[in-house]
Amino acid sequence: MSENMERYNFSKAELHCHLDGCFRTGTILELARNRGIKLPTYDEKEIQQYINVKKRCSLKECLSQFFNFLPTFAGDADAISRIAKEAVEDRAKDGVTYVELRYSPHILANCDVDPLLFAKERGRLRPKDVVEVINKAVRESGEKHQIKVRTILCTIAEYSHWGIETAHLCQEYANEGTVGFDIADIEGMEKNLKDNMEIFQFCKKNGIHTTVHAGEGGPAAEVQLAIEKLHSDRIGHGYRVLEDESIYEIAKTKGIHFEVCPISSFFTASVPEDWHKHPAKRFFHDGVNFGLNTDDPGVLQSTLMDEYDIATRYWGMTTKDLHTLNINAAKSCFLDGAEKYELVQNLEKEYQNFNFE
Ligand SMILES: [Zn+2]
Repeated sequence: MSENMERYNFSKAELHCHLDGCFRTGTILELARNRGIKLPTYDEKEIQQYINVKKRCSLKECLSQFFNFLPTFAGDADAISRIAKEAVEDRAKDGVTYVELRYSPHILANCDVDPLLFAKERGRLRPKDVVEVINKAVRESGEKHQIKVRTILCTIAEYSHWGIETAHLCQEYANEGTVGFDIADIEGMEKNLKDNMEIFQFCKKNGIHTTVHAGEGGPAAEVQLAIEKLHSDRIGHGYRVLEDESIYEIAKTKGIHFEVCPISSFFTASVPEDWHKHPAKRFFHDGVNFGLNTDDPGVLQSTLMDEYDIATRYWGMTTKDLHTLNINAAKSCFLDGAEKYELVQNLEKEYQNFNFE
């Protein structure tokens, strides 16, 4: 057992992890070879510069890597199933016992989707088929690796026609492990704010939980938009809320849960370079409701334990504090009633008996 594994050897709950950003490098190379997809190189070391992010850049630059690896599995049911199964297995290796994995059905589909962003060519895999493939894969892998997996369906604000379809898929598959709706890239939402507000109203009306990527690359106003106009249950990232104390106050008062992803925030330059000045340190000291997440562990080549290391090393968090963050995450997860209660209870029971030696 590695030193980190021993140190953070307790059950964890993770709420912000993109299935389409989880992969093993070897799998990407193998899928590319098998599917005849051209990559700049097939060397396991050299490919890293095309599919991983190893230096601090910008959110845009980080996302540009997705164009290099997503075509290796987008549009192919078997490839997507394999990526999903391995993602679950890898979360289990991190000691995660409850995870909400998110992905965009439209990004992974190659049929009934416009525009076709990542799949190599049009085929017969519809967004609905993607959801069914992933539900099956994560259910099987979850049972095998003893981890409870739920999914969140994502969309991109710019494509509001995807958004409403995604919300309908959340409703259709609510009994099969799909527990929430997420929207990314809300930068240009003013253009179609009305459409997006209607989507969130649909979610509210139909009991679909919501989270919004906000205040990451964009300003604090995004967090305000997410809370006050979209009535989001949680915020993905949200670091830049600290740029506006009044919005920060609103978030705190409402007890909004922030899905903090330390390593990702560093590489996308959404936070100061100095780890001691990371917004999560202030969240921690102010008793804000937040948890720690990996975001895109395949792209960032990171584990959840690497994230915990940052929290202990730079923000002065103890193992007990990390337990609190996991309880925060469990209490803010998208499970309903009895299932959520059981998750919180199980974690609390385990942490109470934890040997802090
Ligand atoms: Zn994210």
